[in-house]
Order: sequence, then structure tokens, then C-alpha cells
Amino acid sequence: MNATIEANLSMNEIINEAIKIIEDFKDKGYLILGIPQHNLIPDELIYAAGFFPLHLTLVGKDQQEIGDEFLSPTTCPYSRATIGFLIEKHDLYSKIDFLLTGPFCNGVQNIGNYSEYYEIKTIPFIVPYSKTQQSFEFYINELNRLKLKLEEISSNKINESYLKDIINKYNKIRSLFREINKYRQINPSKITGTELYYLIHQFFICGPDFVIEKLQDFRNNINYREEILTNKRVFLTGSGICLGDNFYEFIEKECGGLVVGEDMWSGYDFYRTDVEISDNLIINLAKKYFLDCINGRMVPDPRIKYIFKFYKESNANGIIYHILKYCDSYSGLKNEFKMSILNKNIPILEIERDYAELNKGQLKTRIEAFLEMIS
Ligand code: SF4
Repeated sequence: MNATIEANLSMNEIINEAIKIIEDFKDKGYLILGIPQHNLIPDELIYAAGFFPLHLTLVGKDQQEIGDEFLSPTTCPYSRATIGFLIEKHDLYSKIDFLLTGPFCNGVQNIGNYSEYYEIKTIPFIVPYSKTQQSFEFYINELNRLKLKLEEISSNKINESYLKDIINKYNKIRSLFREINKYRQINPSKITGTELYYLIHQFFICGPDFVIEKLQDFRNNINYREEILTNKRVFLTGSGICLGDNFYEFIEKECGGLVVGEDMWSGYDFYRTDVEISDNLIINLAKKYFLDCINGRMVPDPRIKYIFKFYKESNANGIIYHILKYCDSYSGLKNEFKMSILNKNIPILEIERDYAELNKGQLKTRIEAFLEMIS
């Protein structure tokens, strides 16, 4: 594989950039709202209310171990690592003024349960588990409640036309990501999964203004790149991959594969659809972030409806089903989900792991054998 990874800064460079950006936002009077991952809350609404939406996306082995002192090792590694970063007052997370939490899943609930240890005030938000008309209305009420709460804290009434501008900006970013993603889906691809992974995480912690120009430059230079000739093309599904987790790099650099698509909230699900601009903006946000989300926490699992389409579009030759150990959201309906894939005769490799990576050698052997089989 010979693609250059020119979009990528190292994890530390990205974090240092984010710290500078967030300090600037604070100087301008913005408050920083830490939001748990999973694409269930509209950044646009938070931004329009005078808050910088900082996605809690940092993970790491050392912080997972700090989290072990607070949570049982049979809780998801994401929640333990996030607690670790918050407890150690990491330079980025120490800028957070408020934390949005709620019973999204056990992991996110656990992060909120320890808020007094980090001395950060919380703003509760409830996301229902099923997509009925009643739960849709409940979610819209939650958005309206959140809007009022943010306005009260920031003394900044959300202006409809400003919210529209922000939504337009986010739609522009999503459309750039979609455009770039096409160069990963085509066979041969011109970009790697690792490159998109870093670009998305830059957006998650550096915000829209930083990333928009970067995406435009990246898109404009793709045609000058060499093609990536490989049949070891895999599609990723399952628990999200956060910043500090090297899973994309592991598959691509160490095992020789190419991640040509994913349905995760930490990837394609973030940018695959836009928010409509006409009529009621709160309802439009609710449609995108609740009705249209394909997060594995929802019941029934919405991924089953979409995965074959995404898999085909990405010209992949097999699926890696990635589960963070003890992540109930992506293991609860595992059998049904797996059977739906196997029934279509698509090769699938199931992997359960955490950030400690004690079994890296074994993992490499399994992934390499799978890649060999599908190529
Ligand atoms: S979806 Fe899974 S990995 Fe993410 S916080 Fe919830 S339980 Fe943890």
C-alpha cells in the first residue's frame, strides 16, 4: 500500500491544536460542553447556544487503568478510559465547563455517575432506545429542554437564522466527508481508512472551522494520489473507534488490510446524511440525530437495515465486527446481527478487545488470516 497519509497529524499534535482552539473559544466567551460520543446529540444546537461541543473521544491504555479504580473491568473500556482522562484532568478535558450525560448506554451513564469527582456540572439528556412516534416526540422534547437549559446558562438566546447558518456549515462538512469517502469506496481506493479516521477526530475535538479548510485541501489533492491496489478490503462495524485507539492503523499498517468503509458513529454514520434546512429546525435535528441514527444501542438494531448497502457501496470483500469488551450496545443483539450477515454469505471476523492490547500478536494473526482468506 503506497498512499501517503498527509492528512494526519499525530494524536498529540491534534490534541495540542484542539487545546489552542478551545482556549481561543473560551477567550471569546464560549463555554465548553463535553459530550459523550455516539452521534446522538446535535452539535449544531450546542454551538448556536454559545457552547463549543467537545466530543469526549480520547481513549488510552493508561487512562483505562485509572478508570479501573472506579468501574469494574466488566464495564466498557470507553467509559473507563474517559473517566481516566477526566480524573487525571487531562489538558484538553480540564477546559470543560459542563458535561452532557444521560442513560445513552451503561458506558455513558457510568461517566456521568462520577461527575462530582471531576468537579464538572452535568446537563442531563435522555435518548430513548426505540424509534416509535412516542419516543420521537420524547426526543424532540428533550432537545427543546436542552435548548432552554443552554440558553439559560449562556444567557444567549438561540437565533433561528444563526442556527440555520451553523446547520449549513455542518452540512457542508458532511458533504465534504462524503465526497472524500467516495475515493475510499472506489476500487482501487485513493485514500485509507486511517486518513479518514484522523480527519473525523480532528473535527470532533477541533470543531468545524478548523476542519473545513483542511477537508477542502485534502479533497482537492486526492486526484494526484496513487491508487491503492489491494484485495484486502474490509468493512468495519461495531463499537466506535476513538482517538488513541490505533485499530485502523493496526489493520492497515500492521496487518496489510484497507478499511474501505464502516457504519460507525465514529465514521460514516456521522456524515452520511444531512440536516434539512426548511421548516422546524429542532424537528429536523431530531430526524437526523435520532430517527436516522444507526447506533447499535437502538432496538431493533438499525444497522441490519443498512449494512449490506454500505458494504456493497464500499466494494469490500469482508466484514470485521469490532466489539469493545463489555459494550452492551454492540454485543446485545450480536447473534441476530451476525446471522443476518452470514445468511448473505459475506465473510465476517468477530473481534472483541479493549485498549490494553495484551493480545496484540494473536489479534494480528487472526486479522492477517482473515485478510488472506478474502483476498
Ligand atoms: S456504546 Fe458501548 S463503547 Fe460506547 S459508551 Fe456505550 S457501552 Fe461503551
